[in-house]
Amino acid sequence: MGFEKSEQFYKEAKDVILGGVNSPSRSFKGIGGGTPVFMKKAKGPYFWDEDDNKYIDYLAAYGPIITGHAHSHITKAIQAAAEDGVLYGTPTTHENKFATMLRDAIPSLERVRFVNSGTEAVMTTIRVARAYTGRDKIIKFAGCYHGHSDLVLVAAGSGPSTLGNPDSAGVPKSIAQEVITVPFNDVEAFREAINHWGTEVAGVLVEPIVGNFGIVEPEAGFLEAINEITHKAGALVIYDEVITAFRFGYGGAQNLLQVEPDLTALGKIIGGGLPIGAYGGKRDIMEQISPLGPAYQAGTMAGNPASIRAGIACLELLKEPNVYKTMDQLGEQLEAGIHKAAQAYNIPITINRLMGALTVYFDVEHVSNYEHAENSNGEMFAYFFKQMLKRGINLAPSKYEAWFLTTEHSEADIEKTIETVEAVFSNWDFA
Ligand code: PMP
Repeated sequence: MGFEKSEQFYKEAKDVILGGVNSPSRSFKGIGGGTPVFMKKAKGPYFWDEDDNKYIDYLAAYGPIITGHAHSHITKAIQAAAEDGVLYGTPTTHENKFATMLRDAIPSLERVRFVNSGTEAVMTTIRVARAYTGRDKIIKFAGCYHGHSDLVLVAAGSGPSTLGNPDSAGVPKSIAQEVITVPFNDVEAFREAINHWGTEVAGVLVEPIVGNFGIVEPEAGFLEAINEITHKAGALVIYDEVITAFRFGYGGAQNLLQVEPDLTALGKIIGGGLPIGAYGGKRDIMEQISPLGPAYQAGTMAGNPASIRAGIACLELLKEPNVYKTMDQLGEQLEAGIHKAAQAYNIPITINRLMGALTVYFDVEHVSNYEHAENSNGEMFAYFFKQMLKRGINLAPSKYEAWFLTTEHSEADIEKTIETVEAVFSNWDFA
């Protein structure tokens, strides 16, 4: 496979777009650099790049593309929206329909608001929690990503009683001081943080199933303990379900795990591939938001008919019988195939999988928190990634990301992927 055109386009891009990309991970920063592939067309589980190479795609645009690329049902919804006008700045009945669909699927969303990205959704849940409690501090979990707003770009301090440090230049220290970061799956560290800061904490922000240092499930009782300890302290539980909602079943991880938060942030899948975010929760809490309450949130593009109609179409597809069962079966087949190949060629991997999402970690035995994921071998992953790419398999360019299956991947695609993994492992030349 040649990449000459991608190389040329990347050169041109760097001359006009900062860093050549519009989101940093696309630059292959996470795998030590290289030339990102410029994709030209996508259909179902496949990509074609500018050099006319074909790929089986497991990036799924970092999660949203769960029904495969350019699904005709979603494409038709977007076409219809385009013909009827893509932006009104007035309410539409599409928003009523979609909000009702979301609430039917995730009953804790007694009231919903649409925004334009996961970042906005999370940012606003924090505002709601602060308005409702009259407190400022937030607790989050190490390694979880919640978008690029100031408040969540904060790294762990040196212990549960220590406040955070900015994780990005440009985030004021004073803002980082409002955030406490504790390890995922560690109830005692969380309890210690609440014991120390409890009366100042507005909300506890958590990915109920982690998607941002690979797929990491909560240990038994972890989320229940968070609910109990948080509520006892008078704070709110906020689930960031931007990745998880509609990924592991029709609804949220909260439905799957039977634990209910006060507020939920959504994004990705619910836009069917168009820009969207949403947040919602218990009615009395949501009533903090304008026009009913004193906390402000607005958006020119919020609830735009194109994103909403694409989202409705996407959820309609996910409601079909056996959709998740099939992705689970294919995920199981893929996991088993990768394991078998790794055993045959002595490649040290661990796989975390839930349904149609999995992460392959190198050189680490068990991953249940960020520290474990951090200790996985990034150079080995980078080597694996590049070998897979060269052979027509497109993964996310980071050791922390998941492989996402779609409803359009077939058994044949999985078999081809496993054969490719075998080819890479059997020619393993990682120094
Ligand atoms: N929360 C989570 C859990 C995410 O994974 C992401 C994006 N990867 C976000 C929030 C931010 O969403 P967006 O990129 O749409 O702003």
